[in-house]
Amino acid sequence: MKTTDKKGTKSKTQAKAHALFAIDALKKLYPEAVCALESGGDPWKLLVMARLSAQCTDARVNIVCKDLFAALPTAAAMAEAPIEKIEDLIRSCGLYRTKAKSIKEASAILVSDYGGTVPDTMEELLALPGVGRKIANLLLGDIFNKGGIVADTHCIRICGRLGFYPELQKDPKKTEMIMTPLIPKEEQSDFCHRIVQFGRDVCTARSPKCDGCPLGEICLHKQRKDL
Ligand code: SF4
Repeated sequence: MKTTDKKGTKSKTQAKAHALFAIDALKKLYPEAVCALESGGDPWKLLVMARLSAQCTDARVNIVCKDLFAALPTAAAMAEAPIEKIEDLIRSCGLYRTKAKSIKEASAILVSDYGGTVPDTMEELLALPGVGRKIANLLLGDIFNKGGIVADTHCIRICGRLGFYPELQKDPKKTEMIMTPLIPKEEQSDFCHRIVQFGRDVCTARSPKCDGCPLGEICLHKQRKDL
């Protein structure tokens, strides 16, 4: 498959075709698209876990949240808990003071304004303390089936290497804006989960395993390396 146009970037038509190629290849590689955060499909828990995952591993968040949700199982319980108690429970996730404050405040808003549930629009989600576009898109896609490109570090790195935008582009919002029209809405959530897995197993930050990579055919990074 042709990888670039004359300027060394993907044309619009190529980008669309290559995005579909990437979706299919990742589906074959990872038939199950699984969110690494084990929230059990609970919107509030996923919101809390996504907030805790900033600069922390998903594995650590899963461990910490077992005790956290056993002690504080609802938004109401979190909103009413002393901040010191929340800090103690999430300490090992790092940035625990900031995270405890935003989790408590966001939970209080969910209780007062939404009856303890989580709203399903980008605008309302972004108004919650500690919630940025990454968390909002995760919730919109995973919980509300509205689609959402979760531009995390793996997504930004890999989509850049593939050549959907320059590799030096590291801005999450730009990645989201470029990839959103390329990935059909109903595929966005699973695509992002698969790309995280792919980024951990194959296209790692330090040493991507380009030989035999199922995306090699459409990858600009590999094409440059092979020159
Ligand atoms: S060919 Fe290499 S750089 Fe391109 S997606 Fe595969 S592992 Fe990543």
